[in-house]
Amino acid sequence: MTKTDWISEEIADLRASGLFTQIRTVSSPQGAWLVVDGRRVLNFCSNNYLGMANHPRLTEAAKSAIGRYGVGPAAVRTIAGTTDLHLELESRLAAFKGVEAAITFQSGFSANLATIPALVGKGDLIYSDELNHASIIDGARLSRAETVRYSHADASGLRAAIEQHKGRTNRSLIVTDGVFSMDGDIAPLPEISSIAQEYDYLLMVDDAHGEGVLGRGGRGIVDHFDLHGKVDIEIGTLSKAFGVVGGVVAGRQVIADWLRQRGRPFLFSSAMTVPDVAACLAAIDVLEESTELVERLWENTRYFKREMTALGFDTGASSTPITPIMLGEAPLAQAFSQRLFNEGVFAMAIGFPTVPQGKARIRVMISASHSTADLDLGLSAFKLVGAELGVI
Ligand code: PMP
Repeated sequence: MTKTDWISEEIADLRASGLFTQIRTVSSPQGAWLVVDGRRVLNFCSNNYLGMANHPRLTEAAKSAIGRYGVGPAAVRTIAGTTDLHLELESRLAAFKGVEAAITFQSGFSANLATIPALVGKGDLIYSDELNHASIIDGARLSRAETVRYSHADASGLRAAIEQHKGRTNRSLIVTDGVFSMDGDIAPLPEISSIAQEYDYLLMVDDAHGEGVLGRGGRGIVDHFDLHGKVDIEIGTLSKAFGVVGGVVAGRQVIADWLRQRGRPFLFSSAMTVPDVAACLAAIDVLEESTELVERLWENTRYFKREMTALGFDTGASSTPITPIMLGEAPLAQAFSQRLFNEGVFAMAIGFPTVPQGKARIRVMISASHSTADLDLGLSAFKLVGAELGVI
C-alpha cells in the first residue's frame, strides 16, 4: 500500500462508473471549427460567444502590448504596483457596465472567491440559489458565513427563506447566477432585486454568461432588466464573450476600494497578464463600436433552437445561447456525444454530479462565429444521431 493508493482507487471508480472526465486536445485557435484530437470538427462546446477568442483586433492588441510591457505582472499589484493598462481596463469596464467602478481579478472564479468573504463573515448569512456556480459556493464557504440555499430561480422561495432567518444576523447577502450555465435560464432578477431593496440586503449577481450576451450591446443582465443602481455587485468573467481570461467585479466605488484592501486573490495573487488586459481593452472597443456580433449571436441562437425543437428535441428551460439537449440518462448522453464526434461535431455530454441524476444532456454553446451553414451541418448531425439512438 502506498499513500496515494486511495487516489488510484477513486480514479478507477470514476472510470468504472463512466464519470471520469476525459479532456480532448485542441490544436487550433478557437472558432466555429476546431482541430480536436487531430480531427477538424464543428465547435459546439466553447463559451466564445462572440468569436472574440481569435479576433484579429484582440490578438493584435495583445501583441503590441507585449512589445511595450512584456508579458508578466511580476508580482501582486499591492506590492509591485499596477500597470496603467490594468487601470484603464478597470475604468473602461466600469463605463461599459454603467457603474462607478470596477476591479479585475485573474478569473471569474477568483472574483467570487475574493468578493464574498470580503462582504460577509462568521455570524452573517448568505442566501444563495441552489444552482449557483461552484465559485460562489466556494466563496461562501471561505467566508465562514452561513449559507441558506433557496430553490432555483424562485423569488418567493428566497422571501420565505429570509422570513425564516431574518433578525438572526449582522449582515446578509443575496447571491445568484444571472444566467445559469447548465440550463441557460435567467434568474428573476427584478423580483430578487425588489426583495433585496425591501430588506436592505446586499445583492450580488454573477453575470459570467450574461456579459457580452444580454443587455444593450452585451452590457449584461443588469442592463437587460434595466436594474441600473439596484444590484450592488456584478461579477463578470473576461473568459467567455470577451474571449480572453480574467474576472471583474463592477459596482460602487466603495466596493472596488474595499476589494483592493480585502480581496484575498487581489492581495495574494498576481494580476491578469499584460496581453490579456490589452486584448480585453480591444474587446470593449469592438463591443462599443458595434452591436453586430451580439445580434448575430442571438440570430444564431433563435435559429438553432427553433430548428432543434422542430426536429423534436427538448431544449429545456433555456432562454439564452446555452442550449441543453435534454436526454435523461448519462450513458445515453455520452453515446450521443461520441456519435456526434464521429459525425464531426464536438458537443459535450453533461451528467451527474454537474446536473441532477436523470437530467443528463448535451450542452450546445451557440456563437456568433457560427455561419448558418455550420448550424445546418450541426442540425443534420443531431437529426441523424437522434433518430439512430431513438431520441426523436
Ligand atoms: N461564474 C459562472 C457562473 C461561470 O459559469 C464561470 C465559468 N464556468 C465562472 C464563474 C468562472 O469564470 P472563469 O472561467 O473566468 O474563472
